[in-house]
Parts: sequence; C-alpha cells; structure tokens
Amino acid sequence: MTFDVVIRGGRVIDPANSLDETADIAFKDGKIAAIGSNAVGPANETIDARGLIVTPGLIDLHTHIYWGGTSLGVDPDAYMAKTGCTTLVDAGSAGPANFHGFRAHIIEPAKSRVLAYINASFAGIFAFSPAVMVGESGDIRLLNPAEVVRVAREHSDVIVGVKVRVGLVASDGIGAAPLDIAIEAADALGLPVMAHLDHPPPSRTEVLSRMRPGDVLTHCYRPFPAAPTRADGQVRDEILEARERGIIFDIGHGKGSFCWDVAGAMLDAGLPPHSISSDVHMMSAEGPAFDQLVTLSKFLHLGMDVSNIIKASTIGPAQAIGRPELGSLAVGGPGDATLLRIDEGAFPLTDAKGVTVEARQRFGLAGFMRNGAWYRGR
Ligand SMILES: [Zn+2]
Repeated sequence: MTFDVVIRGGRVIDPANSLDETADIAFKDGKIAAIGSNAVGPANETIDARGLIVTPGLIDLHTHIYWGGTSLGVDPDAYMAKTGCTTLVDAGSAGPANFHGFRAHIIEPAKSRVLAYINASFAGIFAFSPAVMVGESGDIRLLNPAEVVRVAREHSDVIVGVKVRVGLVASDGIGAAPLDIAIEAADALGLPVMAHLDHPPPSRTEVLSRMRPGDVLTHCYRPFPAAPTRADGQVRDEILEARERGIIFDIGHGKGSFCWDVAGAMLDAGLPPHSISSDVHMMSAEGPAFDQLVTLSKFLHLGMDVSNIIKASTIGPAQAIGRPELGSLAVGGPGDATLLRIDEGAFPLTDAKGVTVEARQRFGLAGFMRNGAWYRGR
C-alpha cells in the first residue's frame, strides 16, 4: 500500500502508550495507518522528522475561540496554525442561548477539532474586554440548569462538560450558588464541571468541597488570593484532599492565573498538573500566556520532564474530556500529530505577576498533521 503521508525518523512521544522511541508514522485516508521503526512503506509525501519530537495532536483544554461571537474569542484555525494544537476545547465562551451560533459559525467550519464546555450562564462569557467587564455568573437569573441540559443534549457530540466561573470578578460576590447550578446540570448530563475561581467569595474550600471526582479545577496554579499554596510555599490541606479525591488540575494560564512561585511549589510537592492549557483569549494572546507552546515551555523551564509535559497536553486533557482516543497515537485513530523542536537560546518568559525569567529552551512548532493532511509550522 502507498500511504498518503509518512513522518520518518522522529522521536515519537506518546505517554498514553508509554512510547518514547524513534519511529515512523504513516497516514492514509485521514487516519493513522501504521506506526513502527522502518516498518512503514512508500508514501506520496514524506516528512523528515529527524531531530524532532512527534506527539499525538496536541490538545489545549482551555481556550476561548468563539471569534466574532464574543469579545474574548480568538480564531481557532489561526491558533492551530501557530501552536500545532489540533484539538481545541473552548472553556465556556458560549452558553445555552448562543451555543447554536458557536456551532454553526465556528465549530463546523473550523479545520481544527473544536469541542466545548457549555457555560452554565445563558449567554456565556458575554462581556469580557478591557473596556467592559461584567461577570456572566453574577446574576442568578442567567443560570438555568434546565436550559443548560436541554441545549447540551442537542450538541452532545461536541459538548464535553459544563463551565462555571465563580469569584468576585465572575460572579459579583454571590458566592458558590452558580457552581451548585452547574453541578446540578452536569449531574443530569453525566458530564464533568470545569470550575474557575478568581477572588473570593466563594472560598477555595467552598468550591473544592462541592466538586466531584473527574471535575476540573482550572487556574489551579493561580497566584494569591485563592492560590493552592500558602505564603510559605506549603500546599494547602484542601488542595491535597481534592487531589486525593480525583479532582483534575488544569493550568488555564490566561492573563492572571500562572505564577512561577506557586508552580514551583506545586511541582516540588509532587503535584504536577493533569492538564497544561493556555486559556488563550483576546487579553492573554499578547502575553503573558501567549499560547500553548509558550505555556508548555514554562514547564520546561521549571524542569518538568518532556514526556510529562506532552502527557499534560495529550492524554491528560483527553481523559478529562472523556475522549482518550484523542490523546494517543493508534492505528485507525485520528490522523493528527504534532511535530515540535526544542530551540536552544535565551528566551524571556513572564508570568501573571510580571516576573520574567530567562529560559534556555523553548518549544517550537515544526508542523502538524490534522485529519491526515500536513501543515508546515511557521
Ligand atoms: Zn478562560
């Protein structure tokens, strides 16, 4: 058989299959057709991946890509082209009122695979910009669990959970009630919740005590207030208890939710994130988060092992959304893969508190496969 595309000689890292070795990957008819060392036959197009890392198509679990429909949305395909993330999960940009539009105008035409958490609030994140900032969870009349369930059932092929944002900014001081409503809807749907907490109220304990195993705490390494660590760097008891219970920890870097000291303390305590994500949106895409590759590079700087970083952008988030097949390489599986370089040099990297370090290494995009087609990196 002649394959459509073969990627030859790369270091294939697929943590879901405990694979880290030099191998070839062949694609045919939009799917992976063969994986193996020199086991792969002729192809119409051959990509030389020697010196590169080849991973399952990267997943960014926390993005905002309802471009044009919300003030915070970035364009999904431009973002895929920049990062090589072939699966983009939107974290609650749209709610029951406008999910149909999100689907028709973004999800269906996108070349990237777009999945979504539906916002528990009726119109999603409707007012998030430098000029106008009104939290969508601040008026309890906007949170109707029956509407969330009704619309999520209509779009069950693309909805992977229910997003809720609570905190002084997102829910205007009304506390944990929006989280209760989101969990009520998620329970009925059999889906996880992704919870955002900014400044209290509600408290970290009020949020974590409500969350169920498999629910996702995003912004998990956020700085004070509501940080997972104390001022002395010790991890808080309620955080240890939440990890123990099976709460999923997602980075969601964004504009304000990743800082070096908290991240370092969490890694030192043996609590790496299950999922590393960018929380890319109009106000974080120009820094400090920039994008998924910059966010992943910050963990390289922190000394996290490359295969564990890849794990947190492949099988980790894939399991969080109940789609493990999207986070690994398998014959017959999706024809997606990402080809990365590790660039050496001096790269300034800045966290959400404005602290800049000089990193010696950073991830660069060599190219990616999406649905069996090759895209060269910029
Ligand atoms: Zn977000």
